[in-house]
Amino acid sequence: MSVSEILSDKGRDVFTAQSNMTIESVAKTLAQKKIGAAVILNDNQQVCGIASERDIIRQIAKSGTDALAKTIDVCMTPKVVSCDETETIDALMEKMTKGRFRHLPVISNGKLTGIISIGDVVKRKIQKAETEAEEMKRYIAG
Ligand code: AMP
Repeated sequence: MSVSEILSDKGRDVFTAQSNMTIESVAKTLAQKKIGAAVILNDNQQVCGIASERDIIRQIAKSGTDALAKTIDVCMTPKVVSCDETETIDALMEKMTKGRFRHLPVISNGKLTGIISIGDVVKRKIQKAETEAEEMKRYIAG
């Protein structure tokens, strides 16, 4: 299954935040939307980082509640690893395992067109394994 197939199934909504938004407001939106990461945009609306709940936790561990008033760019990861729409689930799993992260923004022709989380990947992997097991059972049963 490819990234574009996953996106047509789950949708292309991505929570983006401006780099000068406060950690508090990003954290509130992550909690409201029940998601784990925000793609960060600069003044030109270009992707300039990614901030996950882990970055926010680390910043709070470092600065205490003062962290909440800081801007999100102080804790984001500026070098974003992305994927494109033609990549397969296995390629995404490899990127996530190698980079030790759970989110991959999708960039197509220079534009942000979606985001894939580890949950999206695991869900499709399980569906595929179940379908294959069913097919095998039907084949054996003749
Ligand atoms: P996560 O597992 O997604 O919560 O992220 C763990 C760490 O990896 C955090 O420091 C994130 O900022 C960073 N991170 C998450 N996704 C990416 C990505 N696609 N590219 C680079 N860093 C990332």
